[in-house]
Amino acid sequence: MEIKEIEKIDKPSVFGDLSEMGHEQIVFCNDNATGLKAVIGIHDTTLGPALGGTRMWQYTNEQEAITDVLRLSRGMTFKAAISGLNLGGGKAVIIGDADTMKTEAFLRRFGKFVNSLSGKYVTAEDVNIKTRDMEYVAMETAHVTGLPESMGGGGDPSPVTAYGTFIGMKAAAHKAYGSDSLEKKKVVVQGVGQVGMYLVEHLSKENAEVYITDISEDKLAQVSKKYGAKVVNMDGFYDLDMDIYAPCALGATLNDATISRLKCKVIAGAANNQLENEVRHGRQLKDMDIVYAPDFLINAGGLINVGAEYEGGYNRERVYQMTEKIYDTCSAVLDMSDKENISTQEAAIRLAKQRIDQVGRVKLGF
Ligand code: NAD
Repeated sequence: MEIKEIEKIDKPSVFGDLSEMGHEQIVFCNDNATGLKAVIGIHDTTLGPALGGTRMWQYTNEQEAITDVLRLSRGMTFKAAISGLNLGGGKAVIIGDADTMKTEAFLRRFGKFVNSLSGKYVTAEDVNIKTRDMEYVAMETAHVTGLPESMGGGGDPSPVTAYGTFIGMKAAAHKAYGSDSLEKKKVVVQGVGQVGMYLVEHLSKENAEVYITDISEDKLAQVSKKYGAKVVNMDGFYDLDMDIYAPCALGATLNDATISRLKCKVIAGAANNQLENEVRHGRQLKDMDIVYAPDFLINAGGLINVGAEYEGGYNRERVYQMTEKIYDTCSAVLDMSDKENISTQEAAIRLAKQRIDQVGRVKLGF
């Protein structure tokens, strides 16, 4: 079972892409009255309803939006499966300007489209869709999660994401150094936003030597003052003599221009889609003996949090217990990668697919 170079899929056929990437369904939503144009991607519902956030973005063309929703929803399937959740993978994208188009009617119309899928797709916040937007969506559908605590939800998932990332980093450090202690390890955290900042807190408590980089001078000043982290140059840090690189800002920072510059032994961060090309760059890291903790595995704390909220009877302690399992799963992935001589990304996808196959058979009764 090989993972494919999905980046190279550029056929003009939507059905071609769906079958190539294994999607079940894609839903185009249009409303002339409000100007809503959205695409909901449902990748795989073998394990449960397809859960994934809604992102609003000014895509340059429709194909770009479709490609984004297909990639993101597929990623959600693997994230849920490897995290032991009874959830499938989905995602929605809304095409347009988030600053000017998000009226109450626009968001409620989107909620109606989500509702029309009768729970097959469950939505949540994502880029440019905030809690207050979700409150409107929730007026039209119960298939929403990630609501604030004041509305009975689980609140901000970022601390849980950061904790899972920290736990995954420890598992990766154990593989690379024979101990999961991060004391005195030089860790560069790229992006000290919601997740990165909490990660810095965990690292500081563990007495790691923390270095930070961000495009926001304010955040750098705030985090360095609070935790004594040292600020490093936004591009120059790739050449630093560091032990661990934690990408917590953007995707695709592991690419042709950066990987060859890295001197670290471990990469473990929260950003989604860190490998620009999951096949080629995953392999390159393996060949360089860099332990890469797959992003979709170690940043799953947020999904675990919203999944628990959707199940009902939300319990934060239970969420943290489930998030702690990332350590064992990450160790299993890293061991499989060594045993089979495959990239850690490929090993993680194999494990996720195995669970979908096995549980899928149980559900079908054989
Ligand atoms: P955020 O927007 O709060 O923080 C991102 C930080 O990165 C900001 O401080 C921003 O200024 C900085 N940044 C942007 N471009 C940069 C660059 N070129 N170099 C350095 N810093 C840069 O986002 P977040 O919620 O902390 O999420 C961080 C990453 O983790 C994202 O990729 C997100 O998709 C992923 N993620 C987040 C969660 C969650 O629970 N919030 C869950 C899973 C994955």
